[in-house]
Amino acid sequence: MKKCPFCAEEIQDEAIKCKHCGEFIDESIKRQFEEMRIRWYFRTSFIILAVLTVGPLALPLIWLRPGIAKGWKIGLTLGVLVLTWLTWVATVDSFHVLKQYGQLIQGMSIGGIRRA
Ligand SMILES: [Zn+2]
Repeated sequence: MKKCPFCAEEIQDEAIKCKHCGEFIDESIKRQFEEMRIRWYFRTSFIILAVLTVGPLALPLIWLRPGIAKGWKIGLTLGVLVLTWLTWVATVDSFHVLKQYGQLIQGMSIGGIRRA
C-alpha cells in the first residue's frame, strides 16, 4: 500500500488512478488522458495535417492550443513561415522557368518563320 499524493488515502502500489479522489498517480498516463480529452482540432496529428494543407492559416491552432510552451509556439510559427516562404519561392521559380521555356519555344518558332 502507498499513500495518494493528492488526498493522502491508502491505495494499491500498482494503482495508476486513486480510487478515493480520482487523480492519476502516474504523470505520463495523466498526460495521455489529457491529450485524449483535448478537442480534435487541437490534436497534434490534426495540427500537422492542417499546417501541411493550409500552411500559415493553421497557425492560430498552434497558438490557441493549450499546453504548448510559448517558446515552442514561436519556434513552430517561424518554422511554418519559413516553410511557406520556401514553398512560395519554389512555386514562383518554377513559373519563371516555365515562362523562360515558353519564350524559348516562341523565339525558336519566330526564328524559324524569319528564316523561311
Ligand atoms: Zn487520492
